[in-house]
Amino acid sequence: MRDYVVGGRILNGDDFDLITGYVHVEGGRIVEIEERSNVKPDDCEASGIVMPALINAHTHLADSVIKDVPYSSLDTLVKPPHGLKHRALREAALDVLVEAMHHSLLDAFITGTTMLADFREGGIYGINALRTAMDSVKQVRVMILGRLNDGLDYIVEDEIDSILDVADGLGVSGSRDCGSSAIGEMFNRAQTRGKFVAIHAGEKDASDIDSAISLNPDCLVHMTHASKHQIESGIPIVVCPRSNLVTGVGSSFLRPPIGEMLQATTVGLGTDNVMLNSMNMFAEMEFASKAFLHDDLKVLEMATLNNAKILGVDNELGSIAAGKHANLLIINNRSHNLFGTQSIISSVVRRARPDDIVLVTHGGQVLRLAR
Ligand SMILES: [Zn+2]
Repeated sequence: MRDYVVGGRILNGDDFDLITGYVHVEGGRIVEIEERSNVKPDDCEASGIVMPALINAHTHLADSVIKDVPYSSLDTLVKPPHGLKHRALREAALDVLVEAMHHSLLDAFITGTTMLADFREGGIYGINALRTAMDSVKQVRVMILGRLNDGLDYIVEDEIDSILDVADGLGVSGSRDCGSSAIGEMFNRAQTRGKFVAIHAGEKDASDIDSAISLNPDCLVHMTHASKHQIESGIPIVVCPRSNLVTGVGSSFLRPPIGEMLQATTVGLGTDNVMLNSMNMFAEMEFASKAFLHDDLKVLEMATLNNAKILGVDNELGSIAAGKHANLLIINNRSHNLFGTQSIISSVVRRARPDDIVLVTHGGQVLRLAR
């Protein structure tokens, strides 16, 4: 008994080869990709462009509480503990914080993202607030990367262990944001327990990159000012080019050096702070392709399979292959926006919008987006 079938122009496998046919789903997983010369819409749940759902490898959901802040320097906006964001998080009532994150999770979903990795500030309190927001949004899988309460320059041993008990790993603001022995100990504890560790590096300048690399994290976030030598450490990198633009650290369109990064390591894509940018990964893809790479396939890989590899879930997500979870988007290739497209991958990356999505599947669930 099949759960459901979707069909059309399928971006198939890890190479995103364009084929025509059907994707069969059973028990929440893709069981068969059936190539056919044509597809009958009546034979499937939905038809159009069938692509893997997007993954967002770097968010800060909590600063949803202060959307579209004044243009200002990076330090003024986000540096712990006194940056605008951190003051706002401390002042936000718990129910306000939870509700804001709840809406951002739903926004991620209706813009085509079914998994994200979130840097969660505020220690145990912050993680519990996110878990409360997640309780009512089961459509999006969240990797919670916690941290100590911002501004501490020492380890609170019980707290770091408690954080690692309830989080998927650590998401640290930067290698200079607490004492070097404290951060080394924090990473050590996490890595010993097999937890994921990620850290911002090289966002404003290159001065914190070498120390971040020496911690051997699972991924470095930003690396806007990384040198070729630093990129060649081979540690996976998540770039957030729209965030770099709005904070003024990457406005040359040469930074972050995404093309050089792709030569050396796995590079993923994220939207970063919700206070700076929407959760819309289609917007992030369009910007990354038009301003930086001029390579639509590589950008699509960054937002799907590369992000899955970086987060360690590429055996389950990130591409359309038998055995993987059926997290799919069906895009209306006859929308006013996409009608007549011949360059399917380029149109998905450079032109498609969330309102072109007709169906999102998340494992066994089929969720039709009302328009
Ligand atoms: Zn960030």
